[in-house]
Amino acid sequence: FVDLGLINDEGRLVNYAGPHKELRGVDYSQQEWFNKVRLKNRFVSEVFEGFRHIPHMVIAVQHTTEDEKTWIVRATLDTSQFSRLIAAMSLEPGSDAFLLSRKGYFQTDSTRYGNTLEPFPLPMPAPSYEANVVNGHDVDGNPIMMAYSYFMDSDFVLVAVKPAIRLFHSWFLLRTDLLLIFCASALCIYLVAAKSVGQLIERLRESDMKRDEAFLQMEHSQKLSSIGRLAAGVAHEINNPLAIINEKAGLLGDLMQLEPDFPKHKQFLDQINAIHNAVIRCRDITHRMLGFARRMDVKVEELDVNVMIRETLGFLKSEAQQRNVTIVQELADNLPAIYSDRGQIQQVFLNVLNNAFAAVGEKGTTIIRSALHGQNAIAVSFYDNGCGMSEEVKKHIFEPFFTTKKGEGTGLGMSIIYGIVKRHGGDIQVESEPGKGTTVTIILPLRQTSREV
Ligand code: ADP
Ligand code: MG
Repeated sequence: FVDLGLINDEGRLVNYAGPHKELRGVDYSQQEWFNKVRLKNRFVSEVFEGFRHIPHMVIAVQHTTEDEKTWIVRATLDTSQFSRLIAAMSLEPGSDAFLLSRKGYFQTDSTRYGNTLEPFPLPMPAPSYEANVVNGHDVDGNPIMMAYSYFMDSDFVLVAVKPAIRLFHSWFLLRTDLLLIFCASALCIYLVAAKSVGQLIERLRESDMKRDEAFLQMEHSQKLSSIGRLAAGVAHEINNPLAIINEKAGLLGDLMQLEPDFPKHKQFLDQINAIHNAVIRCRDITHRMLGFARRMDVKVEELDVNVMIRETLGFLKSEAQQRNVTIVQELADNLPAIYSDRGQIQQVFLNVLNNAFAAVGEKGTTIIRSALHGQNAIAVSFYDNGCGMSEEVKKHIFEPFFTTKKGEGTGLGMSIIYGIVKRHGGDIQVESEPGKGTTVTIILPLRQTSREV
């Protein structure tokens, strides 16, 4: 307190403690505040500048003693106390808090809006005795949030002002973080999706291509099988006239024997023998055709790979002799049997050997090796020292109709082999160097893994 005074019921200052001793005896009975205390028992003034130009305020209370006498105590307060209290609220920088009078005058200093007793530059908030928050704009038009409360028993309004930007600062930070995380996640999702979709499409395309190839191969093998059947029919039909020719030639011979003075006896007999031999050759051929046709119907049996190689070479013996090709066989002993279809395995070996013969031309060498491949498979390799093939050709040899033999090749040999070997659960490896030679290795599992042959 700056000072304290005791006033009796007539409004006279009867006792005083403070710097203005000369006030003692002053009559306050005509002053407004005195009447208000008499009426309401207490009075709190607005802030005013006293004699010393220091902001002050006055508090007065009335008390009635037991002997029915009324006394008023009047105290003057230095309002810098309020500023200290507000400073103790430890506001953030940019924020402001102050007391206003109801009429809109500062009762304490503010940092941004004005000093004590100056008018409040913004519109006064609507009266409310509860804590209230309103949006508004400061003198420069920046958005602010204003929290305030009117005092119940006095003319004061406590106001706290904060720039809206500061208030939402941490929220904006969080929002930026969330936005960043969202963008990063979206990017991740997009990349992963794009990659997996790309892979999926690639796989679909590959399987589409494989399916098309498989269809083509199926078509070809069907074509081949019908050609085989046709050949079998023709062979069968030819057998009967052949038998007749054979029989009639024999009869001719017999008739000649019965006539001892038949002219040119020996020459005729030679001709008849020639017919006989030709018929036997024809019968051999038709028998082989019939055998081939029989094998068009798939029959899985126990097969010795070495025997199959020798048999296949048997078909090609005359061609090898004609071309003067040296065939070397390096076949491993005691190979376990494989379970497969004789005709199909023969066809594989036949096609590879045909290609080898075509590659070497005249006077080449072909080496055929058989050996165990790991525990459960047999590898048969066909080496030739022929023309070899470039990387580009090697890439395409399993494609149906791919051929480098213009006019002569069908381009079906390797694709048929591929189909057969893959269906057996086996594999084909091709090593080749242009001008040096080629090695085609067929790997056949002992027990086929695929059901269909
Ligand atoms: P074709 O023999 O009717 O041409 P293939 O499918 O049997 O068809 O072979 C395809 C192609 O692979 C051949 O045209 C040839 O270029 C190549 N090729 C296959 N085997 C050999 C080999 N041993 N040496 C060189 N080229 C080969
Ligand atoms: Mg071929």
